[in-house]
Amino acid sequence: MMITVLSGGIGGAAFVRGLLDEVGDEAEVTVVGNTADDLWLFGLKVCPDLDTLMYTLGGGIDEERRWGRSDETWSVKEELAAYGAQPTWFGLGDRDVATHLVRTQMLQAGYPLSDVTRALCVRWQPGVTLLPMTDDRVETHVVVENEGQRRAIHFQEYWVRLRAAVPAHDVVMIGIEEAKPAPGVIEAVMDADVVLVPPSNPVVSVGPILAVAGVSDALRTTRAPVIGISPIIAGGAVRGMADQLLTALGVGVSAGAVGVRYGARKTGGVLDGWLVDTGDADQLGPLEEAGLVARAVPLYMSDAETTRTLAADALALAREVGVAR
Ligand code: GDP
Ligand code: CA
Repeated sequence: MMITVLSGGIGGAAFVRGLLDEVGDEAEVTVVGNTADDLWLFGLKVCPDLDTLMYTLGGGIDEERRWGRSDETWSVKEELAAYGAQPTWFGLGDRDVATHLVRTQMLQAGYPLSDVTRALCVRWQPGVTLLPMTDDRVETHVVVENEGQRRAIHFQEYWVRLRAAVPAHDVVMIGIEEAKPAPGVIEAVMDADVVLVPPSNPVVSVGPILAVAGVSDALRTTRAPVIGISPIIAGGAVRGMADQLLTALGVGVSAGAVGVRYGARKTGGVLDGWLVDTGDADQLGPLEEAGLVARAVPLYMSDAETTRTLAADALALAREVGVAR
């Protein structure tokens, strides 16, 4: 069986870990990772979502922070600060810097990000094929209001420096119109037996992947059932800033509203099925009205076992939808 997952960083990586626990050797899993959070810092290319996926699945993640390397030290960051080098708000750990050095060196030698990612994964053996959504540069910027003036800042600045504490008015993905899918991305969707949209941020993680040329069309036409899992539980993002960004785009902060925004494939959307939390079972009606097959199951990924069960629930819904189609 071939399973393809369209993932952001922390939420997606946690889910994929549960998925691998569930399927074992029974499935080949391909993860298409968001790259619109990527940034250049001190001449280094940083890919937060790809690295969170690679480190989480490869056993190198700091389990508490849920980004960056375990047993990290911060000498490089301190030395940069001693020079007054800007920006100071982004966490570049010493061990992490090695990843960025290898990546940047390969990019500057002319290799596309997809080749570089494959090379980095030789070390980490994440148990999945990890593909960047595109080899082209795409950057999510958030339009914020600062002292009465609107300006667009990089998503990482909005999230990491400003802690999403300023009003957001819009989200723009610079470069998305020209971005071509990385090699293997469209095939991963078209050739899959099941496509999963994990509980990743719908605006800044899954949104950019769906906006890459051909990806949404592939979701609409693949023979595989497409199942999504809500990142919104009880009207809030469990972790992160999905609620602020959904509000900026005029989308309701609820499992139902996010499912309806993705939409049912039979009405031009990208999903067949959508999982909401058991506490959000009141949203099933509107979701079914929108043409989605919706189920309420526990969505908190509080430990390995609940996460594995969530993955099993998603695969069960895929089977159900697949038989019906
Ligand atoms: P990021 O790129 O690191 O922000 O990670 P993702 O986009 O993959 O995931 C972030 C989203 O995960 C947030 O918007 C949360 O709503 C969601 N999330 C985090 N923990 C959980 C959980 O336990 N259950 C569910 N359903 N969603 C979660
Ligand atoms: Ca991210």
